[in-house]
Amino acid sequence: MASSGMITVTGLDLTYDDRRVLHGVDLTVGPSQMIAVTGPSGAGKSTLLRVLGGIEPPTAGLVEVGGLDVGGMSPRERRRYRRNLVGFVFQDGGLDEARTVRENLTVAARAMPATPSGRPAPLRDACHALGVDCWFDTPVHRLSGGEKQRVALAQLLVRRPPLVLADEPTAALDRDNAELVVLLLRGLCDQGATVITATHDDRLVLASDEEFRIRIGRNTGV
Ligand code: ADP
Repeated sequence: MASSGMITVTGLDLTYDDRRVLHGVDLTVGPSQMIAVTGPSGAGKSTLLRVLGGIEPPTAGLVEVGGLDVGGMSPRERRRYRRNLVGFVFQDGGLDEARTVRENLTVAARAMPATPSGRPAPLRDACHALGVDCWFDTPVHRLSGGEKQRVALAQLLVRRPPLVLADEPTAALDRDNAELVVLLLRGLCDQGATVITATHDDRLVLASDEEFRIRIGRNTGV
């Protein structure tokens, strides 16, 4: 990632309408660390990931990623930041449903960052690693939720973003596939990516370097 690869969040507030979802979040993540954000449903885990990924601008506070002031970016700068640095694995898609798995991976490979973290995998190898190679030429809308999630993970292997943000990446998977995903995320981190997950999965927490427990009220940690 640019600069030191550190993530520093200080005094982050996020308010939707009149509702304060994140309040006083302080978080420091070292370069190439894997962090599990945990906490009850509705605590703001996904919201924190969206702020770190430059989707949601904070209401107040400092959000710095790899020396970049993500909180202070214009919408255009945030788009560029997402394209150049961030890989998302979100439950509600991120994939082009009308296109095949192969086409989705081709688009991801074209969007490879200038400084990829690790060596990009060939498209079919990435699918094979996630057990979705049998769907290579199938439109994404025909896949189950768990299969789509694995395609989103395969995109990380072909694109190699320095920052990976994964929202409950094991939630829709059976045990074997969940373990595969934990290993894959750990592997991406070991090869240089910073990986932040929102999760309720103990295996993912155990594989992480740190757990950041988020709760209503003040949040300080890592
Ligand atoms: P978690 O991931 O911990 O389950 P979320 O970050 O998804 O929590 O949501 C935190 C709170 O913010 C929830 O109460 C949710 O309803 C609310 N929220 C999330 N997104 C929006 C939005 N776009 N507009 C209004 N409220 C939202």
